Amino acid sequence: MRLITHLAEFHAYRRELAPHLSIGLVPTMGALHAGHASLVERSVKENDISIVSIFVNPTQFGPHEDFERYPRNLDADCAYLATLGVDVVFAPLAADIYPQKDTFIQFRIRQLADKLCAVSRPRHMEGVVQVVSILFHLTRPDKAYFGLKDFQQFTVLQHMVKELHFPLEVVGCPIVREVGGLAMSSRNVYLNHNEREQALSLSTTLRTLRSKHQTFDSVTAMKQWVQKELARFDLVRLDYFEVLDPDTLLEIQDFDAETRMHAFIAAYLGQTRLIDNLALTY
Ligand code: AMP
Repeated sequence: MRLITHLAEFHAYRRELAPHLSIGLVPTMGALHAGHASLVERSVKENDISIVSIFVNPTQFGPHEDFERYPRNLDADCAYLATLGVDVVFAPLAADIYPQKDTFIQFRIRQLADKLCAVSRPRHMEGVVQVVSILFHLTRPDKAYFGLKDFQQFTVLQHMVKELHFPLEVVGCPIVREVGGLAMSSRNVYLNHNEREQALSLSTTLRTLRSKHQTFDSVTAMKQWVQKELARFDLVRLDYFEVLDPDTLLEIQDFDAETRMHAFIAAYLGQTRLIDNLALTY
């Protein structure tokens, strides 16, 4: 496995790759865990060459978010990736990715940017689109792998690939969870013991809702039930809970037994913001 940190070296590597080789890309911000590994394993299985990028992208963090303290451990990440059969770890320097501080071009996402994570993280999705489009240009993959834990991000990137004509397939991979159900996240390391215990309430609430969704006659009633459930946990501060159509991310007004419904949740545990989602009816 080769680690490349300089852009010029990556360009040279990419130029020399034989054109018939299929390339899988797994974009990450590092602090890798089994959730990332599931994406990597799939890429290794489906492609001749697998490239994992590790880049804590400054433009997707808000001014008061955790960019500075985001966990970084390139050595441990590389050791982990070497066991998974990765060909190249691309860990570029921010100065190479964004050579000028203020870029001339800024993305604006029109749909999907007024809901879910985009409300409390106003420029986040635009930052993701910016960095992922740069990574796509640099690596020119055949397939790119993303986790459905970031369901809204996945949906936005599917639109990006379609609208900007990137010649590649976006592959969505299921959420990997810890024993007990907590969705794996690099941010879970921030949680103290009590926060970690109470963080289980997110996935537990989603699972319980899934098992009893037939008993609700409206999305409003589901929301009220979730708020009441989570109010039992003093360390949990709900950011949002939504039930949306998984294909359009539009709100669901009326539903029947056939309606595809997907639940989305975000909550703060102390300073740490966690997200999760679950298909309710399909
Ligand atoms: P991140 O390093 O947090 O930017 O995540 C990199 C990729 O890994 C994204 O596509 C995430 O959706 C995905 N990912 C993170 N956590 C999980 C998880 N628990 N299960 C599946 N995919 C995940």
